[in-house]
Amino acid sequence: MRQPVVRCVEFVESVTEWTEGALSDDDRLTIEEHLVVCPHCTDYLVQLRLATEVVHEQPPEAPATATRTALLTAFRSQRDSR
Ligand SMILES: [Zn+2]
Repeated sequence: MRQPVVRCVEFVESVTEWTEGALSDDDRLTIEEHLVVCPHCTDYLVQLRLATEVVHEQPPEAPATATRTALLTAFRSQRDSR
């Protein structure tokens, strides 16, 4: 089985720039490659897009920030426990 080129934590840290089109072509491809192999980050991206789509109807505290923080915490604790 192929291993992701980037780790989940790197994906989450780059995904905002990716959605804004702010990444270089190389970085963008790396992120998109990670999405193909990682269902967790695919789920995260879906949540992020849903949060972005409803942002006009939501109060300022969109759920994406809390989700991102929770994911980063979870990924870091996974890594630290190895
Ligand atoms: Zn991932």
